[in-house]
Amino acid sequence: VTGTAPAAPAAFLAGCRSAVGDRHVLVDPDLTASYAVDWTGRWRGTTPAVVRPASTAEVGEVVALARRHRVALVPQGGNTGLVGGGVPLAGEVVVSLGRLAALGDVDRVAGQVTAGAGVTLAALAAHAAAAGLAFGVDLGARDSATVGGMVATNAGGIHVVRHGAMRAQVVGVEAVLGTGAVVSRLAGLVKDNTGYDLAQLLCGSEGTLGIVTAARLRLVVPPPELAAALVGLRDVDAAVALAAAVRREVAGIAALELMDGPGLEVVARYLDAAPPVASGAGAYLLVEAGGADDPLPALAAAIEGAPGVVDTAVAGGRADRARLWRWREAHSEAGGALGVVHKLDVTLPGAALAGFCADVRSRVAAARPDAVVLLFGHVGDGNVHVNVVGPPADDEEFDDVVLGLVVERGGSISAEHGIGTAKRRWLARDRSPDEVAAMRAIKAALDPDGVLNPAVLVG
Ligand SMILES: Cc1cc2nc3c(=O)[nH]c(=O)nc-3n(C[C@H](O)[C@H](O)[C@H](O)COP(=O)(O)OP(=O)(O)OC[C@H]3O[C@@H](n4cnc5c(N)ncnc54)[C@H](O)[C@@H]3O)c2cc1C
Repeated sequence: VTGTAPAAPAAFLAGCRSAVGDRHVLVDPDLTASYAVDWTGRWRGTTPAVVRPASTAEVGEVVALARRHRVALVPQGGNTGLVGGGVPLAGEVVVSLGRLAALGDVDRVAGQVTAGAGVTLAALAAHAAAAGLAFGVDLGARDSATVGGMVATNAGGIHVVRHGAMRAQVVGVEAVLGTGAVVSRLAGLVKDNTGYDLAQLLCGSEGTLGIVTAARLRLVVPPPELAAALVGLRDVDAAVALAAAVRREVAGIAALELMDGPGLEVVARYLDAAPPVASGAGAYLLVEAGGADDPLPALAAAIEGAPGVVDTAVAGGRADRARLWRWREAHSEAGGALGVVHKLDVTLPGAALAGFCADVRSRVAAARPDAVVLLFGHVGDGNVHVNVVGPPADDEEFDDVVLGLVVERGGSISAEHGIGTAKRRWLARDRSPDEVAAMRAIKAALDPDGVLNPAVLVG
């Protein structure tokens, strides 16, 4: 969607200026442009204004003004979401939460910290590390993705096999609901069965029910020893089987990442380097394990002699592990360097994963031989990221083909990125009418005027 944004009512903007300060209400298109397009460049909108509150009270005033003047808002954190949920595709006003960047002291007794919605994942991780602890979620967009966005999308990432997704780290939240009411439960009580868990309801709500302003987060104890292995395998089936085997046989598995062979070749061209294991394998598995003792011997033993293994590179020290990880993390950049990427993040039952990957490749090749396909993801969770470069940004044919294959095989159309606007048409194929009706009822109760992300999820 491109064009000119509808004007926001002058009274709304005047109210915002007095709530957050003139400097933090941006209306100059040169200043608002970067807030209106997503990381991929596929989702591009326009906005009459970007409002940048600095406290929960200011967020509350902005939501109250939006209700009064019937102005639609899009909450935005680091703008790294990949499903068009955080950009103003229908001319909404953007509420950017970057200024809510306070980080409380790490509570070493509880193993928790309170973080503002605008704190980046990298800042949170560094803060935890300074106290000898770690945050349980990590993902490639760590330098920009924020706590608020990660709660709102229930972000997953590379350590879900070990620590669970974002909702498993969230002990409490503070948020401004669509009604304008502020809910705050940041005491960090691990046991708290006092009715509906609003913090968990906001996890994965994609900014449609409330604007998260802070979260109380669980921290984890990092293992003293870490080791990684990059394994080249005959095919995706062998990689899925090895992922299951190392999980059974090696304690402390922290990450299990899949890359298919043709995708890794695209990355090799992008990095202009040869992979650290034999190129030409059908699939690659990146495994990381941690523990009190060096996990490398157990990892090597589990990989050695496993069916379908072609070649293996192992790494103990931080720099060597980072070199192996670069091959996994460069997938998103390598695709983006070739053009606008259609990003489809899906989950399949483990047994269906290899067949799905093969079908995606052959269906795309038949329909569009010049398209480039990268298949990679968090195989420990059955999660594959299908990245297709070639079709125009507004061409949804391939999205439909891929999501159709997922539904046929009993998978989920969104593993960790959410529904956003990109997959709204598909929600009813994945969730039952009664489930969608229940979601709509919750939306109507917490955002009765539909001011929060009206075009996202059930919008
Ligand atoms: C290179 C790369 C790698 C990635 N890897 C992963 C991965 O491994 N796992 C994964 O899960 N995701 C991944 N992502 C996607 C993205 O980083 C996550 O979805 C992240 O949680 C988004 O955070 P954000 O602050 O950028 O949110 P935004 O993109 O700003 O917003 C995302 C959604 O949350 C809403 N929102 C934002 N802030 C708030 C708030 N304070 N209150 C309420 N709603 C809010 C927005 O309206 C939107 O619907 C990746 C993205 C990139 C670019």
